[in-house]
Amino acid sequence: MTTVSLTTPYYEIDVPALRRNLSIVQRLCELSGAKALLALKCFATWGVFDVMSPYLHGTTSSSLNEVRLGKEAFAGETHAYSVAYAENEIDEVLEYADKIIFNSFNQLAAFKDKAQAQGIPVGLRLNPQTSNSSFIIADPARPFSRLGEHDINKIEGVVSDISGVMIHNNCENDSFDAFSASLDDIEAKFGHLFKQLDWVSLGGGIHFIAPDYPLEKLAERLKQFSETHGVQVYLEPGEACIHGAAKLVTTVLDTLHNGKALAVVDSSIEAHMLDLLIYRETAPVVEINAEACQLIATESATSTIIYGKSCLAGDIFGEYQLAQPLQIGDRVAFGNAAGYTMVKKNWFNGVAMPSIVIRDDEGKLTVQKTFGYEDFKASLS
Ligand SMILES: *Cc1c(COP(=O)(O)O)cnc(C)c1O
Repeated sequence: MTTVSLTTPYYEIDVPALRRNLSIVQRLCELSGAKALLALKCFATWGVFDVMSPYLHGTTSSSLNEVRLGKEAFAGETHAYSVAYAENEIDEVLEYADKIIFNSFNQLAAFKDKAQAQGIPVGLRLNPQTSNSSFIIADPARPFSRLGEHDINKIEGVVSDISGVMIHNNCENDSFDAFSASLDDIEAKFGHLFKQLDWVSLGGGIHFIAPDYPLEKLAERLKQFSETHGVQVYLEPGEACIHGAAKLVTTVLDTLHNGKALAVVDSSIEAHMLDLLIYRETAPVVEINAEACQLIATESATSTIIYGKSCLAGDIFGEYQLAQPLQIGDRVAFGNAAGYTMVKKNWFNGVAMPSIVIRDDEGKLTVQKTFGYEDFKASLS
């Protein structure tokens, strides 16, 4: 299968890679009794939802638009959550929600009666004030956090209004011991409340798809948690479902030299891989001209900075030690382009929007969606 005929830039979603991750999620659920809901804020490319939904129990959301998409396009349960619902959207949210989780006492008080009148189970987000996150910007337990309630006395006062709670305090946590210790802490703080509840969602951010992650130990820990407290456990994996399952394929449009070799590709990190810019990370180069790429850290290698084509001076995908200098026309593919990429893409500089391409189980490529001037224009007015 040759990919060279497709017009760049494009995101290429790899269905077999998706299935590998999702099989691990499914196995974790089978072993532990937990239910897994895809976090749509990480990945909402609905063209592959029919592939994903058989492995999962549904979706969770962070807005009206996401909960609606989950209901329309994904089988199973649809959980609604938002940092703050507006008065004018709550009725529509409740049309799509199978459960609704409020972020605060105020939101709970304002909207719980409406939900319960429709028979929709209501939950509250709790904040244990501890977390496993190495980035302050992504740390739900950061000082003065608005993400969930923490005051145990006040929580006790509303526990009869809710049937479950959600706690999300991990971010790409690949340590089982750290997760388990955090769960110990959660049980010490809130454990006495769980007996009065039917379900506890432990959020996302657990990197259990890493090859050396002790999946069985995690399953055992979750099962023990569920049995001790008599609750249904939910997990809300985003990144774990899609990790490594897409690449962003670009073409080198120009090369320059300014102290180092420079290459400019027909994409932009700010517009098409914004998360990497926010977290100041390098985009992994996985292929050059469709060959798996060896990045060589030797003296003879050519150090090349790959830039995006927006006019932002620091629109940099990364600096790489390449076996050969890049040439105009070379195709450069950046890996791990599924999570927090397509959901954040934007029209900065009017840079051509990458199309969305799906590689199926047989390796066949389908161009699922292309974007053009009309989409750019329609995004503004
Ligand atoms: C972001 C988020 C998730 C998904 O996190 P991942 O790190 O992508 O697994 C799940 N639940 C909540 C409440 C979130 O905010």
